[in-house]
Amino acid sequence: MKIYNSLTRRKDEFVPNEPNKVTMYTCGPTVYHFAHIGNLRSYIMEDVLEKYLRFSGYDVKRTMNITDVGHLTSDGDTGDDKMLKGAKREHKTVMEIAEFYTNAFFEDCRRLNIKRPDVVEPATHCIDDFIRVISSLMDKGFAYEAGGNIYFDTSRLEQYYVFNDFKEDDLAVGVREGVEEDSNKKNKADFVLWFTKSKFDDQELKWDSPWGVGYPGWHIECSCISMKHLGEYLDIHCGGIDNAFPHHTNEIAQSEAYLGHKWCKYWFHVHHLNTNSGKMSKSSGEFLTVSLLEEKGYNPLVYRFFCLLSHYRKSLVFSYENLDNAAVSYNKLTAKIAAVLKDASGETDDAAYSRLMKSFTDALDNDINTALAITALYDVLRDGTNGATKIALIKEFDRVLSLGLIEAAERLNAVPEDAELPQEILDLAEQRKNARKEKNFALADELRDKISALGYVIEETRQGTKITKK
Ligand code: AMP
Ligand code: ZN
Repeated sequence: MKIYNSLTRRKDEFVPNEPNKVTMYTCGPTVYHFAHIGNLRSYIMEDVLEKYLRFSGYDVKRTMNITDVGHLTSDGDTGDDKMLKGAKREHKTVMEIAEFYTNAFFEDCRRLNIKRPDVVEPATHCIDDFIRVISSLMDKGFAYEAGGNIYFDTSRLEQYYVFNDFKEDDLAVGVREGVEEDSNKKNKADFVLWFTKSKFDDQELKWDSPWGVGYPGWHIECSCISMKHLGEYLDIHCGGIDNAFPHHTNEIAQSEAYLGHKWCKYWFHVHHLNTNSGKMSKSSGEFLTVSLLEEKGYNPLVYRFFCLLSHYRKSLVFSYENLDNAAVSYNKLTAKIAAVLKDASGETDDAAYSRLMKSFTDALDNDINTALAITALYDVLRDGTNGATKIALIKEFDRVLSLGLIEAAERLNAVPEDAELPQEILDLAEQRKNARKEKNFALADELRDKISALGYVIEETRQGTKITKK
């Protein structure tokens, strides 16, 4: 299996540190708001990677942090604490906000068939670990105190900028907002490990430390949580591409300075989901959530399918038109599987099974090419082999793709084809279709609620309107 490694800037053969075992770390969400579908693109593609590693026989242990302290509005140590901002916005405490949005995040993941990582660790549970690692960095001369804060000294490293093949725009995403120079830093690239000189008198969460009462920087959280649960040698670190700099660059700097050896072998970065007006972000621009898509009548798994149709290293443009196209394809696909399912008895054909399985594994072995893996799925449906072989293959593929294919096909087969819908429902559905065409989503939502109140569930696709009795 080959995966593109941002460190080496090429597709590398995947060889974990220990045979058959994989340690995998994922930067978790900053829980001050709902995750948008851009964030979730990253988690969907990372989920496919994890599931494919398991599918290939690796024993995977995956850890994810929950950022509930220390992430400022600029990734470059300036601006407000995002959590505090969220708490103020909603007149709640930081911990209430963290709990609410952590639960909302995992609920979104559940709807998108994203597996929960083996370990999920909130940053606020690991303060002692951060203090221990920062103390060691101080002892080793990699960190210094200035103006009350503890900084990492990047001039002590042979090479700080390790991901320097990224485009300027990608690198700048995290640091653009509200950047102001911190005069305490010895070098421009130095970053905060521990804040005591809090700019925010009302910072809610603070802990005692050898350097005074304060709170950790965001970057140290991921290094420590990863090392705590996955040890000194990490196989794969994942995240959205905006995290490559400064976040992951800083993680490597501090982890390797602390450990005294190379830390993580493979860096897997998912490129952005954009809208026509630019990158989707929590703090600006269009903010689309899974709930919003559901409210508009989309099955969340159609969004997952939409993501899998593109390679994770290409930026992806979201539009309702593109999503509608994915919905049409998804519905056609599940309808075809439903037809095969009706006659899938008998023996599987081993030769056909191996041949068709090979196309699927070849696609994913080549840097998780999900688009080609979906083509392999269509090839199964087109193939001359019998139904039993096809269904056996689709079930296996869906262990990785997690598109709910068999379940959707079974649901389709459960609805009698001649089931008649009342005229009133058909009329409302027609009105809703027109409202959606005119992009009058408020009216479309109202009509959906009316249909729902009459006992029917409606799904709008380009193919037409799919209506089922509740
Ligand atoms: P955050 O909750 O802001 O810490 O981000 C969670 C994850 O989403 C990180 O891995 C980010 O790199 C990733 N991310 C942020 N914006 C986007 C986007 N527009 N498209 C894809 N991934 C994103
Ligand atoms: Zn991280």
